[in-house]
Amino acid sequence: MKKTLITGAAGFLGSHLCDRFIAEGHHVIGMDNLITGDLKNIEHLFHLERFEFFHHDVTKFVHVPGRMDHILHFASPASPIDYLKIPIETLKVGSLGTLNLLGLARDHKARILVASTSEVYGDPLVHPQNEDYYGNVSPIGPRGVYDEAKRFMESITMAYHRHHGLDTRIVRIFNTYGSRMRLNDGRVVPAFIGQALRGEDLTVFGDGSQTRSFTYIDDQVEGIYRLLMSDYVEPINIGNPDETTILEFAEEIIKLTGTNQKIIFKPLPKDDPLQRQPDITRAKEILGWEPKVHRSEGLKKVYEYFKSLSHDELYQAHRDFQS
Ligand code: UDP
Repeated sequence: MKKTLITGAAGFLGSHLCDRFIAEGHHVIGMDNLITGDLKNIEHLFHLERFEFFHHDVTKFVHVPGRMDHILHFASPASPIDYLKIPIETLKVGSLGTLNLLGLARDHKARILVASTSEVYGDPLVHPQNEDYYGNVSPIGPRGVYDEAKRFMESITMAYHRHHGLDTRIVRIFNTYGSRMRLNDGRVVPAFIGQALRGEDLTVFGDGSQTRSFTYIDDQVEGIYRLLMSDYVEPINIGNPDETTILEFAEEIIKLTGTNQKIIFKPLPKDDPLQRQPDITRAKEILGWEPKVHRSEGLKKVYEYFKSLSHDELYQAHRDFQS
């Protein structure tokens, strides 16, 4: 039986990956410091013999006894609100955390896949973004803590591959949505659906002409799984090329939820990328992967999920991030 360590296991992507690797018959070791993750996302796995959980911060030395085949490093704050609130932790988990996990992979002769992001392209001057584009990132802007940590993550991962022959994979994840996203993490999908459910106006930042391309969680997990199982070591974009402006997206959510609230406009956050769309030629050619779930279908599912949450969860105040 394959043994797989997943960091950020209690988070949105991490918890869905735990489900997938359990379903594939792996023994899964979840690890999370629970700053932004929530045990609720994985509590359904606790009764399984093939699932273990370590409450641990990967920026501290990581030790996992016994054999290990795969490591998936998904621990990181991943929403602008989170990484603006906890910038140092964000930098540390992408840098020191990655370093620790690369060392662990080396010790165990394990294959490691690290979660990078479309944010490495910054506010892109090339559209759509393919993997050869170097990006347009401000190292000192508010988003720099996330973008540069992820760029460092890619750099050190390639160095371990080239210098130590470590078996590595790098996925560049584009905006992904699905169940278990935190309603209060500020990302646009939970933000708009949460506002609609609470009967609040939808807050579009800027004039809403900035674009994003949204990937449903099941498609994202499939892409990541195929990449891990492939032998390809350079970065691969996993995202849905179906691009929309944020204003059109707000209108789509109003239609979906049937809310009679209106759209209000708020200032555009600094360095908010104006356009984002993945070029997925490489994923198609190398992994035989492309997204299957249309946005209208995926949004219906995620709306059902958010509707099923309790009143308290819907109104829960922003978390206190003191750690
Ligand atoms: N956004 C918005 N209103 C909100 C939250 C986000 O207009 O209440 C915009 C945000 O400015 C960005 C886009 O939606 O242009 C996607 O934001 P998100 O935080 O989900 O992801 P990212 O900016 O990291 O792609």
